[in-house]
Amino acid sequence: MTSLDRKHLYIGGEWVAPASAETIAVENPATEEVLAHVPAGTAADVDRAVAAARAAFDSWSVAPDRFAHLDRLHTALAARAGDIARTVGLELGTPLKIAKAVQAGLPLTVLRSYADLVLPQPETVGNSLIEREPVGVVGAITPWNYPLHQVVAKVAAALAAGCTVVLKPSELTPLVAFLLVDAAHEAQLPPGVLNVVTGTGPVVGAAIAGHPDVDMVSFTGSTATGRAITHAAADRIAKVALELGGKSANVILEDADLVRAVKVGVGNAFLNSGQTCTAWTRMLVHESLYDEAVSLAAKTAGGYPVGDPFDESTRLGPLVSRTQQERVQGFISRASARLVAGGSPVPPKGYFVAPTVFADVDPASELAQEEIFGPVLSIIPFASDDEAVAIANNSKYGLAGGVWGSEERALSVARRMRTGQVDINGGAFNPRAPFGGYKQSGVGRELGEHGLAEFQQVKAIQR
Ligand code: NAD
Repeated sequence: MTSLDRKHLYIGGEWVAPASAETIAVENPATEEVLAHVPAGTAADVDRAVAAARAAFDSWSVAPDRFAHLDRLHTALAARAGDIARTVGLELGTPLKIAKAVQAGLPLTVLRSYADLVLPQPETVGNSLIEREPVGVVGAITPWNYPLHQVVAKVAAALAAGCTVVLKPSELTPLVAFLLVDAAHEAQLPPGVLNVVTGTGPVVGAAIAGHPDVDMVSFTGSTATGRAITHAAADRIAKVALELGGKSANVILEDADLVRAVKVGVGNAFLNSGQTCTAWTRMLVHESLYDEAVSLAAKTAGGYPVGDPFDESTRLGPLVSRTQQERVQGFISRASARLVAGGSPVPPKGYFVAPTVFADVDPASELAQEEIFGPVLSIIPFASDDEAVAIANNSKYGLAGGVWGSEERALSVARRMRTGQVDINGGAFNPRAPFGGYKQSGVGRELGEHGLAEFQQVKAIQR
């Protein structure tokens, strides 16, 4: 028992006892201590939550004041910003400074953007009136790496569209989702509009994905789980939106500002200890700049302070779990490329991995092909823009990417990259721009108007 324990699920606007007394222990990855326990929900809890969401749908789907509700939810969540950053620091190990800016700041920005969206007016096409309607009851299943952002990107869009939601947060980082529920309860969201069932993927996640009364499953997580969810939803032809893995390329052309490109590139690859689906884990460098880029990257990585997430100077916290740490160390020990930084294990306690850089990485090797989800950067040389594009596109993923060089040339390379987002010369992340993947990085888009559209059906009425 700890003071952070949560004993109830949130269903139909109330905190309710779960069907089973089983719990899940939530660990602090920096200390390996148990932080809290949360209910291990069951299929019976999912049935109850889906029934509550279904009952709430008819009135919420036509409620004229949905945006005012989101506005109140934003106010209630913003009041918890400090708590959100601390909670993610504890359950995930994100350094506090980054947790404040990204783990707490980004979801608030995204929620604000949906509270500010105005519903599109009906359009006409010839004699047809085109209307947008909510898809229905949405099952939202989320991972642990940006545990509130990934929840809000789904919940805010679904609620804005007029859908009702059953949410299952990751069992590794469920505590911050409870802060969202506290805020929703305080903001008096109508009962049943947002329901939360904590639990494991194979039990609660699978029950949501296969539930006959869930109209759409919106999932963020690994490609393997995305595939299982798609299979489960296929039997009833339920809509699926998937945000999956990535192996993004950061292309540094011969006319790039090398120092900035490498510094920002390393920072991007190691953000959140490399546990970022959009991470630029492959740095592709023109051969004329290659040796300098390798030494700059090694020096930058070597200068990253690793340690306690609550120490202000820390740049790199632990990985989320022992499993993840062992997985990442496995990739490092199997690698046959030239190790230029890191590689060795850090402190005896906590799931830390040193910031690691490999040079001369074979574009076809495991290091360059598999999503490692840890602080491991692969550097690869290229001789021409065509070759850079070919290497960048030599991936089963296509989620994000970067290009550095003169604007026109960089834009031309960006257009040829088979990926959902590309930042040119460090262009800033835009929380209203469509976010999502090509190939095995996913199906559908999140954020902004494109994100809203995922949760809508389109109806044509002929006159
Ligand atoms: P995961 O797939 O193991 O788990 C994600 C969620 O799915 C969790 O809530 C988990 O409990 C649930 N789940 C697991 N098995 C399930 C099943 N059989 N049926 C239903 N639900 C199930 O992924 P993870 O380890 O939590 O997250 C890391 C992965 O997520 C990485 O591969 C990363 O690239 C990806 N990711 C993608 C994005 C994106 O936007 N594209 C964002 C973040 C993370």
